[in-house]
Amino acid sequence: MHPPQFDYYRAGSVSEAVSLMQQHPGAKYLAGGHSLIPLMNLRLADPGVLIDIGRIDDLIGITATGNGGFRIGALTTHAMVASHSDLPAVLREAAGQIGDPQVRNRGTVGGNVAHADPASDLPTVFMALEAMFHLSGPNGNRMVAANEFFLDLFTTALEEGEILTAVEVPPQKAGAGSAYMKLANPASRYCMVGAAAVVHLEPDGRCHSASVAVGGLTAKATRAAAVEAALQGQMLNADTLASAAAAVQGDLGSQVLGDIHASAEYRRAVAPVFVRRALAKAVERAR
Ligand SMILES: Cc1cc2nc3c(=O)[nH]c(=O)nc-3n(C[C@H](O)[C@H](O)[C@H](O)COP(=O)(O)OP(=O)(O)OC[C@H]3O[C@@H](n4cnc5c(N)ncnc54)[C@H](O)[C@@H]3O)c2cc1C
Repeated sequence: MHPPQFDYYRAGSVSEAVSLMQQHPGAKYLAGGHSLIPLMNLRLADPGVLIDIGRIDDLIGITATGNGGFRIGALTTHAMVASHSDLPAVLREAAGQIGDPQVRNRGTVGGNVAHADPASDLPTVFMALEAMFHLSGPNGNRMVAANEFFLDLFTTALEEGEILTAVEVPPQKAGAGSAYMKLANPASRYCMVGAAAVVHLEPDGRCHSASVAVGGLTAKATRAAAVEAALQGQMLNADTLASAAAAVQGDLGSQVLGDIHASAEYRRAVAPVFVRRALAKAVERAR
């Protein structure tokens, strides 16, 4: 398969990319190309003009923010995230399970979240980590919380011409542990059910707070508020984790997705299992 014809521009900086986009309305930014090019090959996208942002060096790499957090440039690949030992475990674990080595070496963090595929792993993780997204566009720079960035199926808060430049991961609290567990499509490794958990324990082992998100189940990654509420203040053991994980049913609502790989009923049934596993691993790491 090959894509429909397109004109190609390579931007050397974010401002050049934004200006090229203003000159070519309807164009698409090209990062790793691992979501956009397949869509073009299938004729599900035909932008006519591609603006390659893949060689803007300022957007590549992971830096410590000085307060214990990290800034991840939008063009940082999944492989770079997976192998960065200082990042929270939940993020490394998710990045390391994306696709196969080729996808992890070409696919970018920015492309993954900008594409907002409900079967992607990183939106779920950034929701649980309460990450902030840095955007740059014709009207200047702004920041959007992960919670407000994902609007619907393949739909984000990015406005016309805006580029996601970086994702900021806040510092993890002392006594916190995190984990990501997913039921992967056996062929593509895309997520069918994914659970990201960050658990913060008191010195006596009680749960001070938890941040949990699930993906692959609904049109966009969802914060599991009912699970979080069920954990707060609890002494965490197999029973309390299982009963908190079961509360995810209340977070999913009626709009669980189904497809040829897994029906909505099946995804709904296994969701608590993956939430429980992610919580158990996060608690083990917090202790
Ligand atoms: C076989 C296969 C298996 C995969 N498995 C998984 C998986 O298990 N889990 C998972 O999460 N993902 C998976 N993916 C998707 C992969 O992670 C993609 O790389 C990612 O979703 C898109 O990143 P990209 O850099 O390739 O973006 P591109 O394909 O270049 O772009 C995707 C979209 O985002 C826009 N875009 C890209 N970068 C920016 C930016 N910085 N600012 C604004 N807009 C931007 C583009 O215009 C385009 O609309 C898989 C892909 C393939 C082909």
